[in-house]
Amino acid sequence: MLSGNNFNIQEMNLLEVEIFIARLRKWLVCTGLFLGMLFVQFDSISQVQGSFAALAALYGFRIENHYQSSGVKGCKYLSTVLDLVLLWGVLYLLVDFQYGYLGLFFLNAVFLAMRFGISGWHWLSINLLLFILALYYGGNLTAFGLEILWLFLVSALVAWLAQQHRQMDTRLLALYRLSGLFNSTLRVNEVMDIAIKEMGVMWPQINCYIAKLNCHGDFIILGSTQNALQGKLELGSVISAKLVEHHETVFIKNTLLDKRLANDFLKKFYLRSVLLAPVIVQGKTTGLVILESQKIRDFNHDEMAIVMLAASQIGISMENARLYERMENLARLDELTQVYNRRAFHDVAAREFELARYKKGQLSLIMIDIDHFKKVNDCFGHQVGDHVLARVAEVMRQNVREGDSVARYGGEEFVLTLPGSNKQAAYDVAERIRLAVENLVWSGGLTVTVSAGVASYPADGQDLEELLKTADQALYGAKSGGRNRVQGIQHLTCVNRS
Ligand code: GH3
Ligand code: MG
Ligand code: MG
Repeated sequence: MLSGNNFNIQEMNLLEVEIFIARLRKWLVCTGLFLGMLFVQFDSISQVQGSFAALAALYGFRIENHYQSSGVKGCKYLSTVLDLVLLWGVLYLLVDFQYGYLGLFFLNAVFLAMRFGISGWHWLSINLLLFILALYYGGNLTAFGLEILWLFLVSALVAWLAQQHRQMDTRLLALYRLSGLFNSTLRVNEVMDIAIKEMGVMWPQINCYIAKLNCHGDFIILGSTQNALQGKLELGSVISAKLVEHHETVFIKNTLLDKRLANDFLKKFYLRSVLLAPVIVQGKTTGLVILESQKIRDFNHDEMAIVMLAASQIGISMENARLYERMENLARLDELTQVYNRRAFHDVAAREFELARYKKGQLSLIMIDIDHFKKVNDCFGHQVGDHVLARVAEVMRQNVREGDSVARYGGEEFVLTLPGSNKQAAYDVAERIRLAVENLVWSGGLTVTVSAGVASYPADGQDLEELLKTADQALYGAKSGGRNRVQGIQHLTCVNRS
């Protein structure tokens, strides 16, 4: 099993990872090239020739390095041209002109693989074709078995490298994009969608999940790129401890053979190789990024690094979004009753009003005031008063549809916004609430009732302020009409219990 302990991701930023990979790439290609030269010419290589090849390899590396650190675009092209010229020179010195096709082969290999990231098999085919052409037109050339073997070996090596680089580039790009996109949103759901989408780009062949750790210590899957796996991810205590307590990344090559998995959650979904990277926020594991392959496979060090970087990005962004949403809720909700406060009401109602006007639709407001609430406070104390407020607000929330909103307008006065509801529908809602409040059971002989005034757009007002005023007047009518009743201004329609 691989563990994240050996690799401290916090110490490596993205650019460093990229530079590291670029260097490695250059080194691998150059070293492969150089060794290949030695291999072909092992019996005739001179010290001068060998040094020249080594210098060329180093020079290529230096240019690449310079490009990476300077970030100057022109350097990339200059380095390509210099690479080609140098490599050609080396080949000329080492292999003689008669082996010119080898030069062609190398130039093409390096150029395509490193600059355009052409995928391995295309590259291999092009080179085979060039090789055959070179043999054919070379006329007097003789291809030795050893050379052909070597060509195939280097060819496969560079093809494999090209493939790896391309995948890595895609992943790094997706990672860069991920951090940029995360900055563009402060919504938990959107962060989640972005993360899932970009993980899908990074690993198109395998399935990625994101799970969160709930307060009971269970990992709950929030989303995935391919399979719609849902529910709890039971990993067993040993693996959970590694993820939660030790913040380790866990790799399970074959879930069917891993005895540490407590039950067969993973097994029953026929998963095989799984990489589990903890999402760590402020030193605590808050979730998991999971890569799952239904075929047995390894995850290499680079892939692990990318997953861990992605996990830390996801963690930071989710936490930011969570905090933001919490702050936003705090700013919009009334603390005691957990319904909108007056400011939030104005935002919501103004938006709904504009929508109703634009669509030539309807909208109703209900103003609700608790009857003789002062007496409740006076006789039972403020604490009981607070409890009554919270309970009545809850009744209101329970009796409106999704899309309607409840707000505390002030003291013991509430206002409900009902988009799309006509006056009759609003009456019905108000009456339902009045009845439900009346039927609440309180201890100590307390009774609580409410009065409500209803106003509807377009009949009772042409803007929000006017509509509010009308609803308030209707409420006043309900109060002066005897309380515990619902009333509208024009019809003076009353619904009450008597
Ligand atoms: P009416 O039937 O005419 O509405 O009479 P009322 O007593 O309900 O109306 P009034 O406006 O005279 O009294 C409202 C009371 O609500 C006064 C105020 O102390 C109380 N109140 C306002 N906000 C709160 C609160 O957050 N908690 C508690 N416990 N009481 C509150
Ligand atoms: Mg009152
Ligand atoms: Mg009042």
